[in-house]
Amino acid sequence: MFKKVLIANRGEIAARVIRTCKEMGIETVAVYSEADEDSLHVKAADESYLIGPPRVNESYLNIDRIIDIAQASGAEAVHPGYGLLSENASFVKRCEEAGLVFIGPESDVIAKMGSKIESRKMMNRVGIPIVPGIDYPLKNIEEAITVAEEIGYPIMLKASAGGGGIGMQIVKEPKELEKAFEGNQKRATNYFGDGAMFIEKYVANPRHIEIQVLADNKQNTVYLWERECSIQRRHQKVLEEAPSSFLDEETRAKMGEAAVRAAKSIGYSNAGTIEFLVDEEKNFYFLEMNTRLQVEHPVTEEITGLDLVKEQLNIAFGKELSFTQSDITRVGHAIEVRIYAEDPKTFFPSPGKITNLELPEGENIRHELAVNNLSTVTPFYDPMIAKLIVKGSTREKAIDEMKKALDEYIVEGIKTNIPMLKNVIKHEAFLNGDTTINFVEKHL
Ligand code: ADP
Repeated sequence: MFKKVLIANRGEIAARVIRTCKEMGIETVAVYSEADEDSLHVKAADESYLIGPPRVNESYLNIDRIIDIAQASGAEAVHPGYGLLSENASFVKRCEEAGLVFIGPESDVIAKMGSKIESRKMMNRVGIPIVPGIDYPLKNIEEAITVAEEIGYPIMLKASAGGGGIGMQIVKEPKELEKAFEGNQKRATNYFGDGAMFIEKYVANPRHIEIQVLADNKQNTVYLWERECSIQRRHQKVLEEAPSSFLDEETRAKMGEAAVRAAKSIGYSNAGTIEFLVDEEKNFYFLEMNTRLQVEHPVTEEITGLDLVKEQLNIAFGKELSFTQSDITRVGHAIEVRIYAEDPKTFFPSPGKITNLELPEGENIRHELAVNNLSTVTPFYDPMIAKLIVKGSTREKAIDEMKKALDEYIVEGIKTNIPMLKNVIKHEAFLNGDTTINFVEKHL
């Protein structure tokens, strides 16, 4: 196994990766910005290096600096976590050139899946159902008008390079299209340096259900069931669960097999996620592939008993998967909530100093933390401060655990979305499994 791994990330995911490395006897190297000097991931790592000022462009996205530190510290591999450089194909290439193992798929696979247009094309080619729409970049507003008419309103206007719910706009009527086109193109150019856009049908009342896959370098590929992530705000997930209460075994198997086929068709290796929208008739449509560990990976770990970071490290080291599809079990039900430093009504970030943090404890409760008591949440990064994961033998029991845990979860000094999460978890529609992507707008 690797002797030393650099974690090119911060917050809860850096701390989580370090934990598994320690369990495997791997030394860890953390990098941090001036805003993160007292962070948990810095304290947890064996070595840590300051990489620059708070802004991500000058620190966590500074490829040269991170590669230099990896080499100078003698790390053999780099774990990118999620976000930041995790889906940056040029970073992966630079790692490869520097003789560092990137813990994830190869750079060309990341580049292809990073383009929503390109990935739609590739999935369509191998017979994976995609959301109806076009597979080429729109040339101008005139073309957008024609395409939207053909597809039929409402439509979804999307940036090919988009992510994190940014660069996506619902257009309900023809008269909204021109403004949406201009605004979305500007945002996509600003955020992603790429204004290419395409149009998809807006799927009414779907669920967001994604399949976790693992593939080793020998093309052994398995699926680790699904996660339902329909509870979202601003097209961003806030609560995820596994299994989905909506799927029957037949659909589950079909989606799993489609995900494996998708991964194999692009020569995928390491952990990845194929996201689907599932409509009321249980038709599923490919949305995108995320070529990294997901925020919500713990719910999969809780129902399968696997450690996904350990699997990632083994695969990156060149080991073959130690199990086949039929060995993968599925026990009980797990739910994760993302705890954000944000106003629960407006969803605006609420940075500041945490004056008191008290966490619920119990054998069915798991915490992934980016902060501790007296930490300061800065405005520089994603305001997610923690994840709370619970499990139960059934969905009802897991929901009860989550209710209790949220009641006992105390964060003082900053605003958090905990009140909103409590409203979700106790809502009758949620209990009934009526969890479509419009849940928050419809019920809260
Ligand atoms: P991102 O890459 O920004 O996360 P995705 O394409 O994964 O964007 O979509 C994020 C969310 O937006 C989905 O989970 C879903 O709630 C919503 N969404 C995306 N595409 C559609 C669509 N065609 N119809 C309805 N909802 C959609």
